[in-house]
Amino acid sequence: MEARSLVWAVPVRLTILGSGSAGNCAYVETEETRILVDAGFSAKQIELRLNSIGRSLADVQAIFLTHEHGDHVCGLPVLTKRHAIPVYCNRLTAEYLQPEMPHFSAWRLFDSGATIKLADLKVDTFSVPHDAYDPVGFMFHHALGNIGFLTDLGYATKLVIERVRQARALVLEANHDLKLLQEDTKRPWSVKQRILSRHGHLSNEAAGDVAAEVVTDLMEDLYLGHLSSDCNSPQHARTACATGLSVARRTMGMCGRGDVSYREMEVDGVQLPVIEAHCEYRKPARYDDDLEIRTSATLLTPVRIRFDYEIVRGGRETLVIGHTVHAAVDPSGRPRRLPPRVREMVAPAGPKGPALR
Ligand SMILES: [Zn+2]
Ligand SMILES: [Zn+2]
Repeated sequence: MEARSLVWAVPVRLTILGSGSAGNCAYVETEETRILVDAGFSAKQIELRLNSIGRSLADVQAIFLTHEHGDHVCGLPVLTKRHAIPVYCNRLTAEYLQPEMPHFSAWRLFDSGATIKLADLKVDTFSVPHDAYDPVGFMFHHALGNIGFLTDLGYATKLVIERVRQARALVLEANHDLKLLQEDTKRPWSVKQRILSRHGHLSNEAAGDVAAEVVTDLMEDLYLGHLSSDCNSPQHARTACATGLSVARRTMGMCGRGDVSYREMEVDGVQLPVIEAHCEYRKPARYDDDLEIRTSATLLTPVRIRFDYEIVRGGRETLVIGHTVHAAVDPSGRPRRLPPRVREMVAPAGPKGPALR
């Protein structure tokens, strides 16, 4: 990923100084705080990249570490010799790094899952499944909006999804394209297995699924990070995530905050009789099953709307899929256009979503 800066209304700034298997480091600045998330480049590179945005390591007050892998910490031994910057990480991560940094003592240890207060920031830490000693993600809470960091994880647990759902900006791993990884000839089978495992890395498709779950009206910027240089491209990552998001936006359009109730529409003189229905039963449901009905809406024409349904057991197993198509009519049965508010909510472009970066 190229270095990109996001500046909301001053004073919150997020700059990705670099992201990928070659190194990971991001800079977060608020009115009262200047921190790095990970230090996966040489101290010199980090300094140069900070200089390119008018900052320097001398400005940095704290470094937060997600985990001990080299692409997240390799700059730390030299950097901490030159600059007395406290390092925030959990005990297992510190224990792994300590032999490389015998000169260093400014560890600020936290338990994974703890919340840390740092000037105008509140930092939530949460465990992620990845093949490191005690890997974590972060959610930086600030009065102007929250920034989430979610990279290096094999899959997104419910806890992870909950922790980053209120993000205004999110750095999300989109590590590899599944097909490119399978076709890759450089990596041995065992490495591919590790990457694909539940303690490996998120594929583009998995990132799209996560995006679909965590994107709310609050989110303005979604950074896709940790892209593999051999088995991914910005285009692949963007396309996969945009697909996941377009499903989410259609669903959010009807189920999100901007709901228009059917009753409200009828009061406005609009009825939606079913003109087509399709149902496919794949598996039976049993008494006491925990079922979820997922619905999304698509605008077919200004007077026709389609609802797709999926009945799911246990969050994964699809029992039934189906759809209905409805025509908007007035009380005398004549076709009429759907109310503008409904058309806006379910138009193919969907409500405003986050910028994909
Ligand atoms: Zn990594
Ligand atoms: Zn890692």
